[in-house]
Amino acid sequence: MKRPSRPVILVSNDDGIHAPGIAALASALGTVGEVWVVAPDRERSAVGHALTLHRPLTADQLGPRRFAINGTPSDCVNLALLGLLPVRPRLVVAGVNAGSNLGDDVTYSGTVSAALEAALLGVPGLAVSLVQPTGPASYRPAARAAAKLTQLLLRESERGAMLLNVNVPPGPPRGVKLTRLGRRLYSEKVVERQDPRGRRYFWIGVGPPAWEAGEDTDYAAVHAGYVSVTPLMLDLTDYPGLRGLKDWEAEYRRQSRGRAPGARS
Ligand code: MN
Repeated sequence: MKRPSRPVILVSNDDGIHAPGIAALASALGTVGEVWVVAPDRERSAVGHALTLHRPLTADQLGPRRFAINGTPSDCVNLALLGLLPVRPRLVVAGVNAGSNLGDDVTYSGTVSAALEAALLGVPGLAVSLVQPTGPASYRPAARAAAKLTQLLLRESERGAMLLNVNVPPGPPRGVKLTRLGRRLYSEKVVERQDPRGRRYFWIGVGPPAWEAGEDTDYAAVHAGYVSVTPLMLDLTDYPGLRGLKDWEAEYRRQSRGRAPGARS
């Protein structure tokens, strides 16, 4: 009997190629397909969807099918899909990130951006993050969950390049919940200190985030001990806003006509 060929899976992250989360993920996905690792050569967390356009990128081969890139997570996926890999992968999986990527935080996340870059280039993307990792071994259940979800996502190929944001709770998960993005409550303040030379400096994003209550959110699911799976969309258009501001076109024309002649400059 002919065995079906193993799907090629690209693995990346934003914690850097030497992070424990990516090792656990690559190992778990080895049971699902042929894994290629293309990841930043150092931690690039919270760089969002940044691309490096003003200096060259290098690909340092660290082993078979394993490359470190001196760039961002999106650089890694772009480079891998558009040149470095000999074949187009069936799927891109990013993570396992050290720490959650929930709700509004997905906009900052390099992990989510790596999966987003894949979806933009027509390849399904899965971002996996672990809430409160406690050590290298704590990534294993998250990586196993990612492998199971990878198998499910591979079966959804007729849906096109889907983008899934997965957050895994600490400890053994109670199951999986499909969720929407939660909303953060921004109450934290910047931390201001003084350096030894008397200059002020600041830290942003310090302190535990607070969240809006919402039963079907990603935050609620991981808080209740479930693996949260949020399908994301790339279209940032505000459709109610688009409908609500329709009269701006005519209003803008009226204002332009209302100007006194010669008042142009
Ligand atoms: Mn990270």
